Amino acid sequence: MADARILVVDDDASIRETVTWVLREHGFDVKALDGAAQLFAELERRVPDLLLLDVVMPDMDGIEVLERVKSDERWRELPVLMFSSLPAEEATVRSLGLGASDFVRKPFRVKELLARIDAQLRVRALLVSAREALRQTEAELLRAREEAESRRKLVDILHEVTGDLNTEEIYHLLARRVARALNLSHCSVILARPGDSVGVVAMAFENPGLRNRELLLDRYPEIRAALDRGRPVLIENLAESPLYANVRQLWEREGTQVNVRSVIALPFVLDRLQAGVFFLRRTADEPPLTTDDVEFADAVVSAAVASIQRAQLLETAKADNARLEALAHTDPLTQVLNRRALTLRLSAELERARRYESQVSMLLIDIDHFKHINDNYGHLVGDDVLREVADRLASTVRSVDIVARYGGEEFVIVLPETSQEGALAFAERIREQMAGHTFRAASDRSLRLTASIGVACFPLPGVDSVEELFALADEALYRAKAGGRNMVAVGVPTVA
Ligand code: GH3
Ligand code: MG
Ligand code: MG
Repeated sequence: MADARILVVDDDASIRETVTWVLREHGFDVKALDGAAQLFAELERRVPDLLLLDVVMPDMDGIEVLERVKSDERWRELPVLMFSSLPAEEATVRSLGLGASDFVRKPFRVKELLARIDAQLRVRALLVSAREALRQTEAELLRAREEAESRRKLVDILHEVTGDLNTEEIYHLLARRVARALNLSHCSVILARPGDSVGVVAMAFENPGLRNRELLLDRYPEIRAALDRGRPVLIENLAESPLYANVRQLWEREGTQVNVRSVIALPFVLDRLQAGVFFLRRTADEPPLTTDDVEFADAVVSAAVASIQRAQLLETAKADNARLEALAHTDPLTQVLNRRALTLRLSAELERARRYESQVSMLLIDIDHFKHINDNYGHLVGDDVLREVADRLASTVRSVDIVARYGGEEFVIVLPETSQEGALAFAERIREQMAGHTFRAASDRSLRLTASIGVACFPLPGVDSVEELFALADEALYRAKAGGRNMVAVGVPTVA
């Protein structure tokens, strides 16, 4: 506290000199002034740590001076120690009431003066540090509030991004939301990779018509720098940035007027194919972009990129699952449904028929004497024949019908919403087609086949499950075989 600056104001030169000498001896930085005019000039120049002020002066009464000092925002906190030879009562009450910090009577004792000065400087130091702490707390609070606000915006944005959007929609959404959140007139997405000389506009918030427009990156050094460095690039003022020196010369030669003042280029990499920059700009009549803006936009973009990548992974996993699922349900030889899938679909159809009180029928088709095909033409031709049978069945049914390979040379067709009458007519058509078809599989073009078909319908008394319906169809098929083959028979339940 010894180097504190103290102003001494007294019209009495001997007091000024004494006090100045004493205080300097004690290490204070002292300036002595003889009246109010000098004091205010000095206060304008530099605010001291303490003011020693005489109560009675010719140009302006010390009490008036005090009043003026305390009424000015800049000097309100300056501690003022008054000294006077007036009777203590009156001067003390008046000056303390006006905001003087303390009062010393003339003639003063050096020890007392120093003690009072010391006390005032201590209080002042405490006050200054308390104020600084308050200022910091307020700044932190403000920053926390701003951060919370930008987090909220971020969450809003990501909430939208995680929906079922394609990449183009995501670019659009991000550019729009970043532009709104940062109050930007210009925000676009440029696709390019490090070292590219041309970029492509994927989305421009300010002008959707710019989409797919090519940009010569020579003219956008911030985009190139961002791509090369893999970090955001902020240029607060294009007119001063060294990065823009060449481009500025080019503009000058061409007489190009550029209205953009500050830019942020924010690099991102989505996958092997999609990378580029978010390109944020503000014009000369808007406030320049700052590092806070970079931070916010970077947080939005990197969080969004992560969630897009997650969504893409999920898409791939879903597609893989769908392929596996299809494989698990398909007969590898004929590509129609396999037995497992058939059972699932048929039980779903029975459930539906039960719920909606509708009908469902099934045909169990068994090729007659198929063993002869293998024996006469070989197993490979036998396989071709099975494929051809499956193709023909699949192309004969309606889209709602189900074709499946039940096993070996047996096929099943499920006909939803079909009565016994309809099913019998359909089975008869299949039987005729089969008998009339010449199979391509055999090279001599003479291969002909017949099939026997068992028909079962639901609902029927005594039939409640897939197994019971199959048993019914199987029993009918057996009768068709026994009756001489190449024929259709319908399952009749044995009701007690
Ligand atoms: P039926 O008129 O009584 O039905 O006589 P069938 O010869 O058709 O009946 P059976 O059940 O005795 O023989 C079926 C034959 O189908 C036996 C088997 O070699 C053949 N087969 C089963 N699956 C395949 C296959 O995937 N490829 C080939 N090429 N033949 C198969
Ligand atoms: Mg100050
Ligand atoms: Mg057979």
